[in-house]
Amino acid sequence: MTARPSAPVVVLVGRPNVGKSALFNRMIRRRVAIVEDIPGVTRDRLYAVSEWRGKRFTLVDTGGLHLGPSHGLAAKVREQVRTALREADLLLFVVDVQDGVVPEDREIAEVVRRSRVPVLLVANKADGPAHDLAAPEFFALGLGDPIPVSAHHGRGIGDLLDAVVALLPEPAPHGVAEAPMAVAVVGRPNVGKSSLVNAILGEERVVVDAQPGTTRDAVDTPYERDGRRYLLIDTAGLRRRARVGRGIESYGAVRSRRAIERADVTVLVLDASEPVSDQDQRIAGEIARAGCGLVVALNKWDLVARAPRPDRTREQAVRRALRFLPYAPVLPVSATAGWGIEALFSAINRVGAAHRARIGTGVLNRIVGEAVAARQPPADRAGRRLRIFYATQPASKPPTVVLFVNDPRRMPEAYLRYLERVIRSKVDLIGVPLRFVLRRRRGEEART
Ligand code: GDP
Repeated sequence: MTARPSAPVVVLVGRPNVGKSALFNRMIRRRVAIVEDIPGVTRDRLYAVSEWRGKRFTLVDTGGLHLGPSHGLAAKVREQVRTALREADLLLFVVDVQDGVVPEDREIAEVVRRSRVPVLLVANKADGPAHDLAAPEFFALGLGDPIPVSAHHGRGIGDLLDAVVALLPEPAPHGVAEAPMAVAVVGRPNVGKSSLVNAILGEERVVVDAQPGTTRDAVDTPYERDGRRYLLIDTAGLRRRARVGRGIESYGAVRSRRAIERADVTVLVLDASEPVSDQDQRIAGEIARAGCGLVVALNKWDLVARAPRPDRTREQAVRRALRFLPYAPVLPVSATAGWGIEALFSAINRVGAAHRARIGTGVLNRIVGEAVAARQPPADRAGRRLRIFYATQPASKPPTVVLFVNDPRRMPEAYLRYLERVIRSKVDLIGVPLRFVLRRRRGEEART
């Protein structure tokens, strides 16, 4: 077993002589420690724990790998990259801007692209602005826009480190199981929220917690189902309500908003026997704004059908009414008959996974690159065109894509929606909003 440092691992790959070692030394200027004796680590690699903007990472230089004349270059390079891929959280694929794209670069790019490890393309030996202009040539490698740096002169290293830490995963504490998924159940009065929560939890749980004189405002109920852990948010109001009876709206708007804000996934309960109301739409809007995942439960299905079968017409009516939330799954359930709970939880699990999703940088840039190739961004009247240099997803919950562009003002809303459609067609983001942040790439004013 290879000892694995606990900080995220950033690995430099690239053919010999592109300057990986020089870059390694530049990047660990603020090194915390050089780790030389990690058992199982081959000697031709150097590890250093480094820190940038408060984020720690382990930088690995594979540059010490010497290629014997008897070995095919391609085979050796592939082997080196494969080893790196096994342990890397992020790859820095270093190319030489002065040499341009050479066949070995294409070989490595191919291996890197096929992996799902995020990658930054680093164009080294960009010693002056003239070399920066040559960097876009490497876009052809299909790994997004290269970041021009000069390890020798220390140019662009800060920008590179910014890009590195932006892509690092949050450190996961060892031995801590994944946190339970926070699920809120919301909806207007009488749609059957309390009944649904009771159906989920089972009656005895309700009796246990519905103590007389309970004044706690928000009580979350830990819940386990099929080996997965959930936290049902603010169920107290719902469960108390079942006892208090109709007429008292203890689960008011403020309360519901607070629950939505804390949730990973919100279940919006609608009454299937009634048309979607303004109030339903208002709550749906709040869920969208909060950025949590959404599953729509069409409750009281027993009043409209004999079994929880999908009903296209009814589902479409709901979809039309909630057309600003086209991504949400709609599930028929009956709280009182106990129908559809199983399917509801499958949907909650899938949406929860999408909410946490991280799209690898390589994958994301390929998708965006193909989308742009299929449909160019429109030009303005002066013929200036939006250019998208690269995309990253630095945040999840909800997934947020950062697009580095020449001029954020040139991004039409319709084009952004087009990119969203393309990304959704390739990545399972069911039930979650996809957010975009537009950034002007540094130094762009001077270049366009
Ligand atoms: P809440 O205000 O959203 O918490 O709604 P309640 O859970 O208090 O339910 C309101 C009314 O709808 C009650 O009379 C429930 O018995 C009824 N109800 C809830 N779920 C269903 C269901 O699936 N089918 C039918 N027929 N009635 C339901």
